Amino acid sequence: MSFHFRTMNGKLCLAQSTMLGSLNKYQIDNLLRSEVVGRIGCSADGMTYVVPVTYVYDGTAICAHTKEGLKIDLMRKNPTVCFEVDRIKDLANWQSVIAQGTFEELKGKEADEALQSLVNRLHPMTGSETSIPRHGLERPHSPIDPAIILVVFRIKINEATGRYEKR
Ligand SMILES: Cc1cc2nc3c(=O)[nH]c(=O)nc-3n(C[C@H](O)[C@H](O)[C@H](O)COP(=O)(O)OP(=O)(O)OC[C@H]3O[C@@H](n4cnc5c(N)ncnc54)[C@H](O)[C@@H]3O)c2cc1C
Repeated sequence: MSFHFRTMNGKLCLAQSTMLGSLNKYQIDNLLRSEVVGRIGCSADGMTYVVPVTYVYDGTAICAHTKEGLKIDLMRKNPTVCFEVDRIKDLANWQSVIAQGTFEELKGKEADEALQSLVNRLHPMTGSETSIPRHGLERPHSPIDPAIILVVFRIKINEATGRYEKR
């Protein structure tokens, strides 16, 4: 990070040589659309949990998939969640978005469409067990493991703020 300390009126102050600012609506939208990994913050039963997931953003909501587990348990109990995304070039050049949103589980056609858009978005990138849905969609003839029940969900973005630092 590009900063140094100076003393002013006997107090230690931070002197910055980088520009800090807020992202506008367009820049927030652009960051959400261009990134593929974000962090869900959720809480219930006195527990707060932050967990990374891959996602796709359609302009109003982020869609993601997972298996049954802690984050899904917490979001079902308390659908008011937070979602954070950042792009870090280096410690003096970054952008981040923090969004407040509402969790909603998807079923049927809506779930299929969300999964397909996730596959389309992530397909050009390296796959992994967790990040790319293994649902037979990306390879129509690949076997589906019936033991793995996928949960598809969206987080509708209610409000979002963005910040950046630039040298
Ligand atoms: C870049 C990236 C992309 C990912 N994309 C997806 C995705 O699209 N979908 C998806 O389901 N998962 C994804 N994961 C994995 C995800 O972060 C979780 O590990 C996984 O979803 C299990 O979460 P859960 O709440 O169901 O955990 P559970 O299986 O219920 O386990 C809960 C316990 O495991 C610990 N734990 C869980 N996840 C992590 C973690 N990431 N790091 C450290 N401790 C952990 C918790 O603290 C808790 O103690 C991704 C991870 C990374 C790093």
